[in-house]
Amino acid sequence: MEAWRRQLDDPVSAFPIAKAGPAHIATLKTYDPPLAALEGRRFAGVERRGKRLFFPTEDGGLVLLVHLMTAGRLKYLRAGETGPKTPAFRLGFEGGAQLVLTEAGAKKRAGVWLLTPEQAEAEVEHLGPEAYGIGAERLREVCAGESRRLHSMLRDQRAIAGIGRAWANEILHHAQLSPYALTKDLTPEQVGRLAEAIDSELARGLELREQGAKDDRTYRVHRKLAEPCYVCDTPIAQVDFEEHTIYYCPTCQTGGRTLKDRRLSRLLR
Ligand SMILES: [Zn+2]
Repeated sequence: MEAWRRQLDDPVSAFPIAKAGPAHIATLKTYDPPLAALEGRRFAGVERRGKRLFFPTEDGGLVLLVHLMTAGRLKYLRAGETGPKTPAFRLGFEGGAQLVLTEAGAKKRAGVWLLTPEQAEAEVEHLGPEAYGIGAERLREVCAGESRRLHSMLRDQRAIAGIGRAWANEILHHAQLSPYALTKDLTPEQVGRLAEAIDSELARGLELREQGAKDDRTYRVHRKLAEPCYVCDTPIAQVDFEEHTIYYCPTCQTGGRTLKDRRLSRLLR
């Protein structure tokens, strides 16, 4: 997300907005103010909080909020560059450049909100502390806050802002911690390792993204089922959930144990 923010910061503020929309009905989450209210205004740039991108207008009147979820992609097209025929959302700038949001798959999860500055402020308030640079001390407080599995805590934007499913897999592998470990059971040494892993993995991801690396090269554990662990060569394992899949190394992370989908085993009992 930070790589996106850096890429978009200058171009989106270069020209005023000529045409806001159309947006897919499932993508646009707000109706008032209408998208057309953006027309004629210019963005001041892009700000990021967690996985949300905020585009405040220069006049301070409106904020466009974009949440890409898992499959959404934002692309800035220079004048004359061809883009997708039916993006989930399109913004046209004076001079012909465009900002388009596309989303692979039939399910539309990514969202666009047009907010007043007060509404945008309220959106930010229920986010947890920013993941990058959180530090061991703050992370210990977050972990002590409620007892839950590490993977679930890392993905929860109210606990820590900015980590999705893929990076939760990468970070836990780097920290050599089980995705199922309970947050309250972590030793201070483990919390320190986790804080270090959050920073080094997010920095690694940002650097690769800025070089234009695709998912396959960026991730080392996520979606690497049966491929050799980059540390110990053990085949990467997975646990499936309805909405996501956890990838992990049984040797590096779980002491050789295979993680079970507990919900499924509950059904079978
Ligand atoms: Zn391993």
